[in-house]
Amino acid sequence: MITKSPTRNSQPATHNPTSRLIEKAKHLGFLAVGFSRPERPMFFDQFCEWIASDKQGDMRWIGRHLDLRENPKTLLEGCQTIVSLAYPYSSKKPCTPDGFTTARYTEPKKTDYHDQLRELGRRLSRIIVEEYPESRIRICVDSAPILERSFAYASGMGFIGKNNMLIIPGHGSYVFLMEILTTASLPLSKNKPVKSQCGTCTQCLDACPTGALESPFSLDASKCLSYLTIECRGAVDSKAGRYMDNCFFGCDVCQEVCPFNTERYSRDFSLPSTDEILGMEEECFKEQFGKTAFARAGLGKIKSNIKAIRSAVVQ
Ligand code: SF4
Ligand code: SF4
Repeated sequence: MITKSPTRNSQPATHNPTSRLIEKAKHLGFLAVGFSRPERPMFFDQFCEWIASDKQGDMRWIGRHLDLRENPKTLLEGCQTIVSLAYPYSSKKPCTPDGFTTARYTEPKKTDYHDQLRELGRRLSRIIVEEYPESRIRICVDSAPILERSFAYASGMGFIGKNNMLIIPGHGSYVFLMEILTTASLPLSKNKPVKSQCGTCTQCLDACPTGALESPFSLDASKCLSYLTIECRGAVDSKAGRYMDNCFFGCDVCQEVCPFNTERYSRDFSLPSTDEILGMEEECFKEQFGKTAFARAGLGKIKSNIKAIRSAVVQ
């Protein structure tokens, strides 16, 4: 279900544990909360087909633990409820003074979102434990093999766009997802999954620079710039560099063109110039970016991404 901003007329939180949890989640900055049972994920078969089609590039780990993905109860013994949560990230595009950018979620001045969200998840979990003192909890922030979009969708938080992102009507897709698994049997809302609202739109498919979005809901991750500039072990080649435009970490194109992301384009000049990054020593990188989302790829990968763009420009 989608949480709305509190209004003067809204009912105060009662002893309903779900209402308390939703109120607290709103207070902590979450945009949407949904509840579902830890059953076989709705999109499990499609996920298996995608794994079998071998479009995950180097990310072989995605195909492991299919048994755990199929049965999320195995992630927490006695699990009764999956609480799906969406936290908004900045819609501002991080920029360097010389005109380069990175994906919005990187938020260069903030600690990596995994740590932020885990802490918020701990604070939220206290409500569950207060209401259900015997309950046990597991917080998942990209840390467990769980089909999180499938559960977020099943809980009625939003719909899956043709770009494969969870789209929350009224907000869009610039959100981080996380889950709290609990042995408490929280009541489910009556919300049904939100029907796709993409209609005849194909803007994300048309705009994808590499053709990674091959058809609606079908991604060849090995061609996706988010994969190539972050997860892929090898250096980005100049062919991919030509598609990167000026974005050297991640890619937002299929979200930027989506009409459900309505924020006006704005920039955040919090990155050093690409010359400074290319001349940066490891120690300095660790000090400046060691706790940010950039640490996942590391300085060497980031430098090679910048070089790929530059070499594509001079060709
Ligand atoms: S992130 Fe970029 S490269 Fe990947 S599917 Fe979206 S538009 Fe295409
Ligand atoms: S760009 Fe259009 S087709 Fe793609 S996810 Fe958004 S609404 Fe759906």
